[in-house]
Amino acid sequence: MDSVKILIKNNIRIIASNVTDVCQKAIEYQETLPFTSLILAKAISVFAPLSFILSAKEGKVTSFIKSDGAIKNLIVESKNDGSIRALIGNPNIETEKDDSDFENTPLILGIGNEGILRITRTSGTHTFGGEVKLVKSDLITDLAYYFEVSEQIFTAIRSTVKFENKNKIQRANSIIFQLLPNHQEDDIVWIENFIKNNDLETTNLQDYINKMEANLLSEKPIFWKCEFDRNKVISVLQDVVKKEKNDLFENDEKIEIECHFCKEKFYFSREEIS
Ligand SMILES: [Zn+2]
Repeated sequence: MDSVKILIKNNIRIIASNVTDVCQKAIEYQETLPFTSLILAKAISVFAPLSFILSAKEGKVTSFIKSDGAIKNLIVESKNDGSIRALIGNPNIETEKDDSDFENTPLILGIGNEGILRITRTSGTHTFGGEVKLVKSDLITDLAYYFEVSEQIFTAIRSTVKFENKNKIQRANSIIFQLLPNHQEDDIVWIENFIKNNDLETTNLQDYINKMEANLLSEKPIFWKCEFDRNKVISVLQDVVKKEKNDLFENDEKIEIECHFCKEKFYFSREEIS
């Protein structure tokens, strides 16, 4: 089962995520080609745990990338109850390696050189966040840079996504190391040495965690869930009708709206919108 573990080692907070099932659902709903599946799964592995790191008791964290690359954009939304949904602007990015070694293709080839990472927290009616330029388009450096600039927190991140075959994810894991306010030089050295001596790519997540000899503070389940907010869509449609003054329905009896996350179709009648 997918979960996020929060651990403490001296003055370091460690967030260890297994999001294999969430990523599998995401690539099925988004109908991604193999290299696009890799980008989406890597993004989920690093951004999904943010609701447990950044947010208050209730609320959600939205990680948004917009770039000049083939992906166009990418969204990972994570809520405090552990629910995740995600989408990628272009699910059809092909590489020559799509049938073989696609899982080792550098993400920058899909994400592009120029772009932004915006992270927004929503708690009740409160929304706030920050934005940075993409520095390496590998997601892990970009998120670490975000934490450095926006939160002044030193962060080191590792992520791995492996496939059984081009349609089936074998594992999607990430580890986020963050220095706590009272950290010492020793803590930095420990993170650097641990990362140098232990490779997440070749070690299973639990073995990797065991090697840290850290204290487990909590473990939270994490899962795919897409909630379509019908009332919100109705109010948006009502606004459009008011402003545009044209008939959205034309000759149809209902409007079809597709959810960009789960691709489910929803229908709205003339009576609902007026
Ligand atoms: Zn949906």
